[in-house]
Amino acid sequence: MTTLTQNFTYFIPKSTAGKVAACAGICFLGYCIYFDRKRRSDPDFKKKLRASKRISSDYVAQQIIDLAVNGNAQNQSYNRLAEFVDTYGSRYTGTENLENAIDYMLKKLKEDGLENVHGEEVMVPKWVRGNESLVMTSPRYHPMALLSLGSSVGTPIEGITADVLVVNSFQELKQKAKQAAGKIVVFNEKYVSYSETVAYRSNGAVETAKVGGVASLIRSVTPFSINSPHTGHQSYSPNITKVPTACITIEDAEMMYRMQQRVVKSPTCVIPSNYIISTGQKITVTLKMEAKNYPPVKSRNTVAEIKGYKYPEQVVLVSGHLDSWDVGQGAMDDGGGAFISWQALSLVKQLGLRPKRTLRVVMWTAEKDVKNFDLVMESDLGTFSPVAIQFTGNDKAKSIIKEVIKPLQTINVGYEDRADGTDIDPWMEAGVPGASLHTKDEKYFYFHHSNGDTMTVQDPVSMNLCSAAWAVVAYTVADLEEMLPRDQR
Ligand SMILES: [Zn+2]
Repeated sequence: MTTLTQNFTYFIPKSTAGKVAACAGICFLGYCIYFDRKRRSDPDFKKKLRASKRISSDYVAQQIIDLAVNGNAQNQSYNRLAEFVDTYGSRYTGTENLENAIDYMLKKLKEDGLENVHGEEVMVPKWVRGNESLVMTSPRYHPMALLSLGSSVGTPIEGITADVLVVNSFQELKQKAKQAAGKIVVFNEKYVSYSETVAYRSNGAVETAKVGGVASLIRSVTPFSINSPHTGHQSYSPNITKVPTACITIEDAEMMYRMQQRVVKSPTCVIPSNYIISTGQKITVTLKMEAKNYPPVKSRNTVAEIKGYKYPEQVVLVSGHLDSWDVGQGAMDDGGGAFISWQALSLVKQLGLRPKRTLRVVMWTAEKDVKNFDLVMESDLGTFSPVAIQFTGNDKAKSIIKEVIKPLQTINVGYEDRADGTDIDPWMEAGVPGASLHTKDEKYFYFHHSNGDTMTVQDPVSMNLCSAAWAVVAYTVADLEEMLPRDQR
């Protein structure tokens, strides 16, 4: 940094008035140095300095909140997201549309005045859904809503026509293993929580193949449905036959279970009149899926920065993912998270601030190994009204973060232990402190991975608050004198 004395040697004024002014300046500088020494000898100086730093970081935090909530940036992240998702819609990995959406983002981030805007090359899987249909032909004709699951194989062109076996759990499938051969297995598992129930979506195909089933249909992993299937990823196991797998609605899964449980009397039976010849209505369906896996393709993470003025190589990362499932608009998952992350830097930029450390926004399509992160932040569980900043780190770091987020009390954002985020997990596992955003996400899984994930789920006021909270944490941590403490692993 250039010092004041250096400046004087470069700029000795030639006029008398200039010399007088320079003299006065030097005298004033001398007084300042004297006063500063005197101040430093004050035993309470450190305490007072800490308090004044506290006030200045609180002041900056309040400026950020004001700008996002009531100022010129009000509703900005919502409006930016609406334009983006209305223009591009869903952004599935491996599609040209995702690449076009990334080009658009790079342009917008540059226009916003952010630095080092670039696409960071990554490889992503490519899976194409194609056409798909599911039609019940017995006991009645009934076309059903379905979505094939990511990475599933397709069916032959003519489809798979088979009888259905409905089970409520993996346990029940084991008990009924002998009945499963040659059938399409329907899982009608109850929704307990996403993390627990998602096992049916992930492993349903493998468990079906193990007992000789020919395809699996999974009740969508959601607590609520208006006949909406919810897609998602599934996994095959080596050495187990890959059977086609798709999700169906809660309504159809429950109906098929009722059909199977229903006691059926013989319609032609004469003696005795109540003689039961079988239990359960015979359910037959035809499943057609064109789903296909292709080799991985190139894509890009979208990156922009505000370079730190003191420790530019140390980075506070704010992030969300830009890609989405191929249904809906991906406005909630994870357009909201990606756009409040952009907004965090945008707010800092609009206030003309520059922290000590570099602030980096990454809109992921796949994570990449990067060193020298001070704090990694990810929002991927909705941008509803914010409740708390969730944090993973050691005890010292926790108490620093609790101080950092104090100004967020004015917008009712508190602190919670344990950050949540798939894209930042590798760093958190390596000991890098991590943060995520807890919002009023009770309805998140109503819309997750479905055609219902549109801009209608998003709320501008909530996005203002989320952006403010995100920006305050990112900026304040980036501007601390020290990096957040961490345990060596
Ligand atoms: Zn997501």
